[in-house]
Amino acid sequence: MRDVTLVGGGLAGSLLALMLARRGVHVTVFERRADQRAEQVEEGRSINLALSTRGIHALSQVGLDAEVLARAIPMRGRFIHPVNGNTSLIPYGRTADEVIHSVGRRGLNAQLLDALAREPNARVFFQHRVTGYDPRARALAVRDEATGREFTAPAPVVIGTDGAASAVRLALMQHTRMNYAQDFLEHGYKELTIPPATDGSFRIEPNALHIWPRGGFMMIALPNLDLSFTCTLFLRHDEFAKLDTREAVHSFFQKTFPDAIPLLPNLEDEFARNPTGGLVTVRCGPWHLGGQALLLGDAAHAIVPFFGQGMNCAFEDCGVLAELFDVHGGNWADVFPRFFDARKPNTDAIAQLALDNFVEMRDTSADPHFALKRQLEHKLEDKFPGRFVSKYAMVSFHRFPYSEALKRGRVQDRVLMEACSRATALAELDADAIFARLQAGCSN
Ligand SMILES: Cc1cc2nc3c(=O)[nH]c(=O)nc-3n(C[C@H](O)[C@H](O)[C@H](O)COP(=O)(O)OP(=O)(O)OC[C@H]3O[C@@H](n4cnc5c(N)ncnc54)[C@H](O)[C@@H]3O)c2cc1C
Repeated sequence: MRDVTLVGGGLAGSLLALMLARRGVHVTVFERRADQRAEQVEEGRSINLALSTRGIHALSQVGLDAEVLARAIPMRGRFIHPVNGNTSLIPYGRTADEVIHSVGRRGLNAQLLDALAREPNARVFFQHRVTGYDPRARALAVRDEATGREFTAPAPVVIGTDGAASAVRLALMQHTRMNYAQDFLEHGYKELTIPPATDGSFRIEPNALHIWPRGGFMMIALPNLDLSFTCTLFLRHDEFAKLDTREAVHSFFQKTFPDAIPLLPNLEDEFARNPTGGLVTVRCGPWHLGGQALLLGDAAHAIVPFFGQGMNCAFEDCGVLAELFDVHGGNWADVFPRFFDARKPNTDAIAQLALDNFVEMRDTSADPHFALKRQLEHKLEDKFPGRFVSKYAMVSFHRFPYSEALKRGRVQDRVLMEACSRATALAELDADAIFARLQAGCSN
């Protein structure tokens, strides 16, 4: 069918709308927020994001990769800030192009919406919130947030790209036998700002993702084009609740992040003002109702942000759906189930990889054995090109199926960490023997 309604014009919705419109589909997008390009709108979600290979590949499928990368800041590695102040950079990759990119969420969404506005087949209705979906009537209930008008919109084919709290998913759960589970992390997050230095430069190294790992919790910071950084503190909700006065916030930071205090001049004000967000993993399925409805992106598989993959995975979803559309001549009844079958094992895998990476980032990234493990990974990649690819590289610099990265990554973590825990320097490690152990582990 050539008419499709997308619910949600966020990152996945706007990219998918673009891909479909260019294939001759008449796309209608209902987006509950005001047009971000024109108005000051609620920020809601993280201000900046790490864009990596999968996301860049999907953007290249609509010719937007160069435009987006022109407004991105490359991050070469993790810049670790231990409590003792002995900072170090642990590179992500071996070569200059093995980097990830900090992009502004709003700017990226605006670039996608600008491109969409040039497509004659696409119409976007901002401030239009979908409040319900009746699959039998094939219709959406919509409220125009600007006027308060409620109306019913015929929607023969619906794709829910409406994020982690998807209204389309809720309706499908009510009308179909969809399985559903949501797992909240006991940690939440709060965003804080490192403003530019008074001389108009960055206050800390711009080409890195900064981490203050503290065992059980952590803070990270990603650079912005305006020379500021957005910090995100990940902390248990019960610990957040204790930080309810300016004094409590100050003394917590004094104790745990002393080197960050001079970087955060508005710490206490921002801490009180900015919301504490929750972190959830959503697993559900099937994501489709025949050929008439589908969930995609966070609506289908919200994950925690610790591998920097939620958006990248959602963008990869868009590319996979567009390719299936081409193969099956636009027959949604063929496309939707195949999309679910192809993506579900991979989105389950990245959900797990993201949870595992939280432990690595907050607990082990300050451990010298972890830095050694990264050096060993790079040595193995040099010595066995194409035959050894680290877990991080499989996820962030290549487009291996996530399920493959999970399987091979588990073997790597076990074998490499075991080798590194008994060594103090790379020279002590026998790369050939370790590679043989990895191969034996992966073939089991
Ligand atoms: C703290 C944090 C950090 C993150 N960092 C990264 C990162 O570094 N890299 C990365 O790849 N990912 C990251 N993510 C994940 C990423 O934000 C999401 O995976 C991504 O935004 C998913 O895109 P989406 O379009 O599916 O959903 P969203 O971006 O949530 O978009 C959904 C859209 O639907 C609209 N909408 C919702 N309900 C309705 C409705 N009823 N009617 C109409 N419109 C509606 C919303 O307004 C929104 O525009 C992070 C997430 C968090 C929380």
